[in-house]
Amino acid sequence: MDCQTARKWMSPYLDSELETAKTFEIGEHLRACEPCRRRFDAERHVDDMLRDRLSRESMPPALWHQLRKEVNRSELLSGFRIPAVIATAAGIMLFAVLYMASGDRSAKPSEVFTGQWAHYVNQSVPSESMLSDAEIEKALLDDYGLRFSTAREDTHRHPVKVMGGRYVLFGSQPALELRVKCCGKDAVITTFLRSNAGKLPRGIQELEREAFGKDVKRDGVNIRVNTVGEAEFFIASEHYLDGLMDAIQPGKA
Ligand SMILES: [Zn+2]
Ligand SMILES: [Zn+2]
Repeated sequence: MDCQTARKWMSPYLDSELETAKTFEIGEHLRACEPCRRRFDAERHVDDMLRDRLSRESMPPALWHQLRKEVNRSELLSGFRIPAVIATAAGIMLFAVLYMASGDRSAKPSEVFTGQWAHYVNQSVPSESMLSDAEIEKALLDDYGLRFSTAREDTHRHPVKVMGGRYVLFGSQPALELRVKCCGKDAVITTFLRSNAGKLPRGIQELEREAFGKDVKRDGVNIRVNTVGEAEFFIASEHYLDGLMDAIQPGKA
């Protein structure tokens, strides 16, 4: 068995869901392959941590797999930052519970923000994970009481365009992310409820205080934090933020 195949079967292997022959084959590979062994051990470690803190029994299996995938994808594993992993996991859990309760399948977070700003802003997002224009408008208004204006008098004459939007976990909190362009340059606006701001990871809360109402630079990216009504948002771009400052407005004009 090669590494790629071994890793493909990692989840069911760790969950003891595989037939005996396959389990044996993977076990053999792990005895011989140090990198895979480390990878599997790390995964098992995260599993144990999650299991300790979240009751797996109360969770549908599909959600558990989704959760583990999200935690992996957030790349937090690499540094073994366990509290961050748990915060992320707890956030996903909370969000999962909320979205299952609301019965709204579309409100599934599609990404976890990991604090890498340049990556975040320049990341290309597959269009199939984007909400439609109508969904964005509705989410902004219903969930956050906002609307997004591209009128030139609201964007200080910068040409601004909404490219798409999606649900994300910002740190550990559910958020609506707008992907926009200002003067053709990528920018991201991450909106969440002010009442959740206190639950954000400490690093993001520190940045929030520093960037409130004024630009700060992280990782080559300009960041500014603002609030409108019940909503709070982080605006981030390698471009100037002037065009986007007043584009977000109270929903009921
Ligand atoms: Zn291997
Ligand atoms: Zn601009």
